[in-house]
Amino acid sequence: MSRRKIVAGNWKMNTLYKEAIVLAEAVNQYLESHSHQCEVVICPPFPYLSAMNEKFSRRHFALGAQNCANAEKGAFTGETSATMLQSVGVEKVIIGHSERRSIYHETDQQINAKIKIALTNGIKVIFCIGETLTERESGKLEEVISRQITNGLQDIDAETLKKIVIAYEPVWAIGTGVTASPEQAQEAHAFVRRLITKQYDKETAEQIIILYGGSCNAKNAATLFSQPDIDGGLIGGASLIADDFIQIIKATA
Ligand code: PEP
Repeated sequence: MSRRKIVAGNWKMNTLYKEAIVLAEAVNQYLESHSHQCEVVICPPFPYLSAMNEKFSRRHFALGAQNCANAEKGAFTGETSATMLQSVGVEKVIIGHSERRSIYHETDQQINAKIKIALTNGIKVIFCIGETLTERESGKLEEVISRQITNGLQDIDAETLKKIVIAYEPVWAIGTGVTASPEQAQEAHAFVRRLITKQYDKETAEQIIILYGGSCNAKNAATLFSQPDIDGGLIGGASLIADDFIQIIKATA
């Protein structure tokens, strides 16, 4: 079964506006002038989304947000709703990133609500899961990932799941420079696919795109992406350097 690869850049809380435009311009120009098989997503900080949607109206990447609220609208100071994102051309949203889970204490239930709200508003989801080092070392990897998948995807049917991409991001590899070995990553991805088979069915599990995230860079991307169950990457640090991000895009070929 051949699945389309995806490379998504999560810029987190980095770049000033002008830098963001220069970075996106470089990636867009590369995509315009080179054939590439993968889908590319750029997730800049919130304040730049609207301007980037207008500036790159004929873009070759999908515009993504890094989060959205778990409510439709109203008195939620500082939050941004999926409807608002949709109104400024956002096509994808990262939900359940480990930084949201650990720093902002997002629960599986809140993540599930966000996923549903995003999808209801026509925004596709990059749903992040992954274990901490303590959890891995105490043999809880499968338990943690199972819980995140079961709760995060609660009440989402197989048809709706087609609009969701899963990103397996071991927390100990995010922003640390320590990458999961291709074998460790493959093992976890295969486990996720088995979980999807159990929760849905084999066909759905074979179709779902599972990205790897965690210190993926220009040097290790090709080996990671060559693993049978790894369908591309969610890239943090390396997505801030145009040349590195482009090398990662090339690594999907
Ligand atoms: C991320 O934040 O999703 C990520 C994978 O970060 P990094 O590539 O910097 O480890």
